[in-house]
Amino acid sequence: MRLPQRVEHLIVGSGFSGLCAAIKLTEDGETDFVVIEKGDDVGGTWRDNTYPGACCDVPSQLYSFSFARNPEWSSSYSPQPEIQAYLQSIADEYAVRDRAVFGTELERATWDDEAQVWRCRTSSGEVVARTLITGTGGLSEPRLPAIEGIETFTGRLFHSASWDHTVDLAGQRVAVIGTGASAIQIVPEVQQVAAHLDVYQRTAPWVIPRNDRRYSRLERLALRRVPALARLYRTGIYWSHEGYVPAFTWQPRLGAPAQKAATINIHKGIKDPELRAKVTPTFLLGCKRVLRSNTYYPALAAENVDLVTHPIARITPTSIVTGDGAEHPVDVIVVATGFWTTDLPIAERVVGREGRTLAEEWSAGGMSAYKGTTVHGFPNLFMMTGPNTGQGHTSVVFTIESQVAYLRDALRTMRERGYAAVEPRARAQRRWNSDVQRRMGHTVWNTGGCSSWYLDTHGRNTVLWPKSTFTFRRKLARFDLAAYDVRVAQPTPDREAVA
Ligand SMILES: Cc1cc2nc3c(=O)[nH]c(=O)nc-3n(C[C@H](O)[C@H](O)[C@H](O)COP(=O)(O)OP(=O)(O)OC[C@H]3O[C@@H](n4cnc5c(N)ncnc54)[C@H](O)[C@@H]3O)c2cc1C
Repeated sequence: MRLPQRVEHLIVGSGFSGLCAAIKLTEDGETDFVVIEKGDDVGGTWRDNTYPGACCDVPSQLYSFSFARNPEWSSSYSPQPEIQAYLQSIADEYAVRDRAVFGTELERATWDDEAQVWRCRTSSGEVVARTLITGTGGLSEPRLPAIEGIETFTGRLFHSASWDHTVDLAGQRVAVIGTGASAIQIVPEVQQVAAHLDVYQRTAPWVIPRNDRRYSRLERLALRRVPALARLYRTGIYWSHEGYVPAFTWQPRLGAPAQKAATINIHKGIKDPELRAKVTPTFLLGCKRVLRSNTYYPALAAENVDLVTHPIARITPTSIVTGDGAEHPVDVIVVATGFWTTDLPIAERVVGREGRTLAEEWSAGGMSAYKGTTVHGFPNLFMMTGPNTGQGHTSVVFTIESQVAYLRDALRTMRERGYAAVEPRARAQRRWNSDVQRRMGHTVWNTGGCSSWYLDTHGRNTVLWPKSTFTFRRKLARFDLAAYDVRVAQPTPDREAVA
């Protein structure tokens, strides 16, 4: 499809968020929209993260759309190729590809207050849209560490989210920088092939056992043939994960049993007391994202692996030098240092009613939105996985579906009442965020004794939602018009103004 010059709705991104928005808009009879995607395929996270060992850490039965359950998952935590194949099949089944323009990046979106539209510059040309729906992801822009000399390295160096499959790690000296969610999946895979592996740890994460197992043919048949069983199974997984909420958001000490399980996981995987001490976190479980693995600790304990806890001082053309002066020769460096989370790149590109970007708007107080979805000063902007919508315990897809329900109701309201634009009132947004931040004070993320990527430079947690996901869903169940300023559409449609 070619980029149209004008559409009613512009969806940016084609991961879980963009796909969900496109599917549900179509279901509502909306036909005038386009999905732009800077990559060459749908999938987002799951198109890009192809590193060895990549898989979800929330069970696939829950980490998938409620309206498109997949009885064919091979195991409880499916590997990346299966998740990507699932998203591709969804895009085909719901004909999203017919509405998608790939290789097209949103460069700038500017609100035109007179015409009540977004004027968007993309890498494939200009497009004007009534509403702008961003599904650009919270973990989509790889973050490279600022290490002195990194540009002088003459070996191979790449980020976990853009794995270089042309590099054969067999027999190489490899370094993995970082011990987050991606790193703990990569390390056991690399350990098996590398001659030597150095794992650079700044902070040890809590890693609980992963109860992964393959589904039998009989189980898959039952899930395929008995939809009620599949629904019940999914519901059971949802509630078992929701059980973490009180420990994370209200009484961190309730996380003690899980922390005990994580400690046992360390003891099972590692015999050396010194190494055990190095990998034992000094903060409460949940403060940083809780990771799941049965193979990470045994891999760290392997003969060909060193866990390096001294900070990296600099990188030379052939080695990594740590703060203690030690030089670690290396052929391949894998940077697994995560993503831009609290400085979302999309924020630099969206210019609101007052001519300021979202990033400028947020520079003083950090990211904030109304219900994590709409933003004062930015009419008709709907952000999927916006500020304070993330969770540390369950599937992001549940949140995305909640936000898309809100978006649908907003669009329905606008259509029925003839509104050209809706914008949350400053007061409503302030109240929402002060409530969110007040509740943050009780959470393990703020009190658990760690610093994490959940916190911005002001020390505010602008990433996570501090209550249950069903509360989030309930709060977004209906578009609450009373919290919005509206603009009525002109009697003659804006087509001319827009053209
Ligand atoms: C390795 C890894 C494992 C994860 N595992 C889990 C898990 O088990 N459970 C869980 O709940 N979450 C997990 N997550 C979080 C995951 O990102 C979300 O679950 C989900 O994939 C987000 O979907 P999305 O569509 O919002 O964003 P993304 O999947 O990030 O998609 C965003 C899309 O927008 C496109 N885009 C960005 N900017 C532009 C632009 N300016 N113009 C055009 N296109 C643009 C990108 O190319 C991308 O395709 C994981 C994340 C990573 C990185």
